[in-house]
Amino acid sequence: MGGRGASSQVQKNSLAVSSEKWRPNVEAGENRIRGRKTETAILVGMDGKILIDKSDGHKSQVGFNGQELALMDGAILTHNHPRNSTFSDEDLKIMVHGLKEIRAVAVHGTFVMKKTRENADFSMGKDYALAQKEHLNQTNKIWAEAQMKRLGLLEMDKLADQLNHSIEVFRRKWLAKNAKNYGFIYTYERRTA
Ligand SMILES: [Zn+2]
Repeated sequence: MGGRGASSQVQKNSLAVSSEKWRPNVEAGENRIRGRKTETAILVGMDGKILIDKSDGHKSQVGFNGQELALMDGAILTHNHPRNSTFSDEDLKIMVHGLKEIRAVAVHGTFVMKKTRENADFSMGKDYALAQKEHLNQTNKIWAEAQMKRLGLLEMDKLADQLNHSIEVFRRKWLAKNAKNYGFIYTYERRTA
């Protein structure tokens, strides 16, 4: 544990910094799109070059054509979520095109899903969708029972908020618990600027 260890540590750190040339453009883009009512997607290469910057206007979700998907290998994709939710299963499925990282921008911070190994398991998106479906069936059951009881409008509104919140909590917990098993790390970067 002498000088050699220390110098290799320095090397490691400088590599980490140079491998994040993309960060300034990703963060500038995120500050620009944060809080928008429609979705905008920005794809940034490892070298910091902006490869895609698009919104589908009135649509809440941005779609990509084959040419655009081909640009994703080794790049960072960020986009805003107008409802401040975490990743959709569609977001995770896009990672199969070789993204190093996908990011979803909410008002108070950014959800991050980062690949930690080359042979990551992309069935995560499908499994996440299945788990959500099960949870959704449960919430739908609660909703249907409430409708049978003919609750008042305010009570139904309150229940709808509660159920929507429970879905979001379920999704965040599922990702936090399971991402590592597929070769990803799921984090949240609190907004600093
Ligand atoms: Zn998304």
